[in-house]
Amino acid sequence: MQMDSNALEARLQQQLIETVKKICVPGKGILAADESSGTIAKRLASINVENTEENRRAYREMLFCAPGLEECISGVIMYDETLMKHGRKDGTSFVEYMNSRGIVPGIKVDKGVKVLTGTNGETTTQGHDDLDTRCAAYFSRGARFAKWRAVIKIGPNEPSQLAIDENARGLARYASICQANGLVPIVEPEILMDGKHSIKTCADVSERVFSATYKALMDHHVFLEGTLLKPNMVVPGADSGAKATPNEVASYTIRTLQRTVPVAVPGIVFLSGGQAEEEATCNLSAMNALRTTKPWFISFSFARALQASALKAWGGQESNVDAGRQALMSRAKANSQAQLGTYKGSSSGDASSNVSLFEKDYRY
Ligand code: 13P
Repeated sequence: MQMDSNALEARLQQQLIETVKKICVPGKGILAADESSGTIAKRLASINVENTEENRRAYREMLFCAPGLEECISGVIMYDETLMKHGRKDGTSFVEYMNSRGIVPGIKVDKGVKVLTGTNGETTTQGHDDLDTRCAAYFSRGARFAKWRAVIKIGPNEPSQLAIDENARGLARYASICQANGLVPIVEPEILMDGKHSIKTCADVSERVFSATYKALMDHHVFLEGTLLKPNMVVPGADSGAKATPNEVASYTIRTLQRTVPVAVPGIVFLSGGQAEEEATCNLSAMNALRTTKPWFISFSFARALQASALKAWGGQESNVDAGRQALMSRAKANSQAQLGTYKGSSSGDASSNVSLFEKDYRY
């Protein structure tokens, strides 16, 4: 029999693999709806809606209960308040609703970023201290996967080795704690789009960051088969003035992943990072259509690029719930096709889906 160097017991490993299988389904991806109460405040302000608990709940119900969502979405990432306190207006829980439709409930477990002293505004992610007890509580409530966002900046002298190492270790420790508590960790080392750098620089930095991340995951005995990676796409800096075609983005991104992500990792689910809805979808489709070695399931775990049109169409009005859901489903279907590598671009000609969703120094 083969020796397994991994410390996680076989039953737990099997459980994590089962969850991964439910998420990595052809034509499906993840809806990230885990904005903290501070971040959702900005979203609601953009449609002149007050950031009350009921408005946050109603917005999430509008998204999660869109008819047919399960045909395109296999997992939803929630924020603590949504998972632990909220449910549908009729009193039933979001978790039950998702489970009945084969959608896996997920939870954001990081507590945001803090500046690393002595760096040029680089950060590390906090939330390890009580992570084991929180993971156990989230699991009991029905969550089966988790997300932790580490943030890396590109600058004249950034990222520093300190920021790379510190964030890689933070992700590895988080992943190890999640797995011990039955949650599949989504490992998210996000390299921000901020800056004037070229696509090539983004590729170089992404290679350094992703390889350091996997070194740390190995050092922490993380069971790679029970993880998912949520990376940035490799794109030029937002202030570079350069625009890359979907094929360029796909070629650079897949090459970066081929060089750094072990074959044992089952799935890669991209963040949208401030790209316009349509742009993120076209880039994802180009990656799945690219003819080269890709041993992983490749899909989406978008927040802004799945929600922007839906948020606008809803506008905080009960009477617009159906319109919001239609807008969400339109993006969800496009991204479903992109997972299959067959998306041919918007036929609706909706200009709003081409609007950049970039925010400087993005905090989640
Ligand atoms: P965006 O798709 O808006 O980048 O967000 C994804 C996410 O979950 C960030 O952590």
